Amino acid sequence: MPLTELIIDGFKSFADKTTIHFNDGITAIVGPNGSGKSNITEALRWVMGESRAKTLRGDNMKDIIFAGSQFRKPLNRAEVTLIFDNKKRELRFDDDRVSVTRRLLRSGDSEYLINKRLVRLRDIKELFMDSGISQNSLAIISQGRVDQILNSKPEERKALFEEAAGVLHFKAQKEAAESQLAKTNDNLIRINDLVKELE
Ligand code: ATP
Repeated sequence: MPLTELIIDGFKSFADKTTIHFNDGITAIVGPNGSGKSNITEALRWVMGESRAKTLRGDNMKDIIFAGSQFRKPLNRAEVTLIFDNKKRELRFDDDRVSVTRRLLRSGDSEYLINKRLVRLRDIKELFMDSGISQNSLAIISQGRVDQILNSKPEERKALFEEAAGVLHFKAQKEAAESQLAKTNDNLIRINDLVKELE
């Protein structure tokens, strides 16, 4: 599904609210070293649920909030929004336009929103599951990622194929069903023990 807009506000070097429009075809972002090109892909990863500060080149998640510059004070909040054209319902959400927002305050509080409604991180992950654009998918290839994939373990590589084949959602459902089944079996064993005690 087409990503139409990326709105970055207070994330890393983007102290001012900045909107990037993605039109049909290829969008290239050019700029000198250190101008913030990688910060844009990191903003994308972050809003899709990235929880490892290291992946975003920080020690702590709060490092993603604009830390101030020579002329500007640090900010207390970072917010990134993605807007998708979902007319073809490629995202599991019944709306033509889907916006996904993540917000982090310096206090450590964080919020996720889908179409401006508060949701859980789990809902964001489920929304992107099997869409081909989850935080670990090959839709975002950062510097050094190709080498990393070539050197990865077979299990890690298998996960990439599963994501591309769109089976992750079913895998997650299978795992949930298996865990439910295991719990039910435990209950059954307990009931059988009780019945034996009563006999
Ligand atoms: P290159 O072409 O060298 O890879 P780039 O255009 O990809 O560079 P980035 O790595 O995205 O640049 O941006 C790095 C810049 O972001 C640095 O100037 C750094 O100081 C700034 N930066 C990173 N985190 C923050 C933050 N929390 N607050 C303010 N600025 C930040």
